[in-house]
Amino acid sequence: MAPIISIKSLSKNYASGTKALDDVSLDIEDGEILALLGPNGAGKTTLISIICGLVNQTSGSVAVGGHDIQADYRAARSLIGLVPQEVAVETFETVISTVRFSRGLFGKRKDDAKIEEILRALSLWDKRNNENRELSGGMKRRVLIAKALSHEPRVLFLDEPTAGVDVTLRREMWDLVRQLRAQGVTIILTTHYIEEAEEMADRIGVMDKGKLLLVKNKSELMADFGRKHLRMELTAPLDAIPEILSGYALQLEDGGRTLVYDYDIHQERTGITRLIADLADAGISVRDLDSEKSSLEEVFLRLVDGETA
Ligand code: ADP
Repeated sequence: MAPIISIKSLSKNYASGTKALDDVSLDIEDGEILALLGPNGAGKTTLISIICGLVNQTSGSVAVGGHDIQADYRAARSLIGLVPQEVAVETFETVISTVRFSRGLFGKRKDDAKIEEILRALSLWDKRNNENRELSGGMKRRVLIAKALSHEPRVLFLDEPTAGVDVTLRREMWDLVRQLRAQGVTIILTTHYIEEAEEMADRIGVMDKGKLLLVKNKSELMADFGRKHLRMELTAPLDAIPEILSGYALQLEDGGRTLVYDYDIHQERTGITRLIADLADAGISVRDLDSEKSSLEEVFLRLVDGETA
């Protein structure tokens, strides 16, 4: 099947001299949820702003549903809904007229049944006659999504959908995105939360410094992320790791006071139980334990160093 979005050698240099995108190529499949993951300044917003026609590229091309975003702007744009980062809705308008108006902007014929369907799906139907200013922050975000869906786009972009949002609302947003996908909408979201990409995405693209470092199925990428370090504070420091423990990936730190065990959380057997037993056999006693997941930064460093890419 032809990709719904095809990005070829896309670059963007802002007038300020910043190279925000550097030769990005990517095909997005119809019906998938793709998360673009990367630190602030990676170029995520620039990428989606170009696809949505808000920013012009310096070079390269993008086609949406086979329509070039420059030569065939209207056709391309009509397939896209964008939920921007800032929560800005018309203060004194009612929910339903805000969403109706957005649909009209795309030149779509009036269709109150469709508007009702969208508002119901977003649990906004009961609030349809409220003015936007009367809504909670979470409800306002829903109105933004309803606006973006008002012209029945095939692709929905969500730019940092849960930035600054509390845990409950974040879970609601995730549920909502899943529902939309079940209806066949392709979803591209940007995030700098690894948990969000892990929770939501079918595929994850990692961006840094304007480059798309890799795009992988979530399960593959999570295998790279999925290492943990178990840190064991010892009662008495060790000079060296005893021979009996040589089969484990262990390191001594803090002048022999801390033993660090590196393991893969995706393996059925992490080896921790046996390690603890072997430590006891070796007469090593542990005062305290702590475990940490390998961080996004670590993975970025590995990617930038070219180890994983
Ligand atoms: P992200 O969304 O990943 O945080 P952005 O696309 O917003 O990244 O930014 C990428 C780079 O481009 C950053 O260095 C940012 O400062 C710069 N940038 C973004 N928008 C503009 C602009 N309108 N003018 C000049 N530089 C910009």
